[in-house]
Amino acid sequence: MAAANPLESGEFGTSPDAPVIIVGAGPVGASLALLLARRGIRVLLLERQRDFAREFRGEIVLPTGRDALQQMGLADLVNGLPRSEPSRFRLYIEHKLVLDTGFNAELIGGTPAAISQPALLEGLIAESKKHPHFEFRRGASVKQVLREGGRAAGVRVRDEDGDQQLRGRLVIGADGRSSVVRRDSGIRIHADAVPMDIVWCKFPPLPDAPGHAPGTAWVRAYVGGGHMLIAYVSHDDQVQVGWIIYKGTFGELRRRGLREWIEEMANHVSPDLAAQFRRYADQVSHPFLLDTASDRVLSWSAPGLLLLGDAAHTMSPVGGQGINVGLRDALVAANHLVPALRTGTDHEIEAACRAIEAERVGEITQVQRLQALPPKVILSTAWWAKSLRSLVPYLINRSFVQQEALKRFGIFFLGDQPVRLEV
Ligand SMILES: Cc1cc2nc3c(=O)[nH]c(=O)nc-3n(C[C@H](O)[C@H](O)[C@H](O)COP(=O)(O)OP(=O)(O)OC[C@H]3O[C@@H](n4cnc5c(N)ncnc54)[C@H](O)[C@@H]3O)c2cc1C
Repeated sequence: MAAANPLESGEFGTSPDAPVIIVGAGPVGASLALLLARRGIRVLLLERQRDFAREFRGEIVLPTGRDALQQMGLADLVNGLPRSEPSRFRLYIEHKLVLDTGFNAELIGGTPAAISQPALLEGLIAESKKHPHFEFRRGASVKQVLREGGRAAGVRVRDEDGDQQLRGRLVIGADGRSSVVRRDSGIRIHADAVPMDIVWCKFPPLPDAPGHAPGTAWVRAYVGGGHMLIAYVSHDDQVQVGWIIYKGTFGELRRRGLREWIEEMANHVSPDLAAQFRRYADQVSHPFLLDTASDRVLSWSAPGLLLLGDAAHTMSPVGGQGINVGLRDALVAANHLVPALRTGTDHEIEAACRAIEAERVGEITQVQRLQALPPKVILSTAWWAKSLRSLVPYLINRSFVQQEALKRFGIFFLGDQPVRLEV
């Protein structure tokens, strides 16, 4: 039950130059805060965590995301961060290597990179702190969106000093998949059924393993009946593993214990990686389950409030899209919000919020629709899915098949259309 809303009862003091409040300093909130503060907009960024390393939220940045960071003027920052740039991709189906290829930067618009997300977020905050209009509070957890006259007008936030009410000119929910801002907005959500969950964990590199020398990082995907495992060399040279399992089966896996599920994973991969899993079974780090979701709000804004990134559209992990589409949200949001916030009325700010949605919703819907396809084929036990999987090894190296795949899934790397920062 939500607490009584102080703004409705008039207990909340007014402030003519209230800042834009951004809830959540993930990739979307932190980058938008920088773009607004740089353009002289007062921003208060609130983040519940004190330490970004406490939550793993993915780290693969694709060409669209790298392009967005570059447009934000952050190429030097990114080049100085811990990162790996995988140069080879291998696909195994039912234990057979069916594709071993480099990333064609020309075709996919650049190269992917695994970038330490805590380092990226700290870099964005440090960059924003150069601007006098930026304020950042760590360990500040937003508990409620406050309203006044039917509009969002601020937030109730809790930190180590207790609860505080903060007035905001616009409240932007960039607080991820469990967004409090979205919850309090009353906006309805459309959720897709996602048949899978993911177990994440990290293994130390084998000292003599190929693929750990500089410039030889790799990504691999192992597909078999009812499972898929993705592994890549991460920014710290360790091997990051994402093991896709049927939704709801993790409880059973956990009951069997860590050793047994590592053994189960080892049975699905090639001998070199299996040896690595077994050798380092006691040193596996950060094992956790990601309850996969794919959804989108039916409207990205309400009076005084805007939702962006995962808060507006939680992305399934298929194709590593979340950070990338989120960074593009931030570019488009800055384009519309900077002029509206500089001189606009509430009415114009609301129009800007609607324009952001109008510009972004097509790409998001298209990406989410495509993300739903691979799990249907990979995890299904239906005859047609089995037949399709058995055909892949014969088809995948044909150039017409690769061209068709690029045509269909190219949006994962290139977006549906260029997004330009204009402010
Ligand atoms: C395990 C995992 C792996 C992933 N891998 C990839 C990948 O490789 N590539 C990719 O593109 N995407 C990946 N994703 C998806 C990606 O992480 C998200 O889509 C992306 O981070 C969304 O960015 P965001 O800024 O909208 O939200 P988030 O990154 O979730 O950031 C939200 C922020 O808000 C803060 N917050 C939440 N609630 C509150 C509150 N009440 N008050 C204050 N602060 C709050 C959180 O602490 C967090 O810092 C992965 C996700 C997970 C979970």
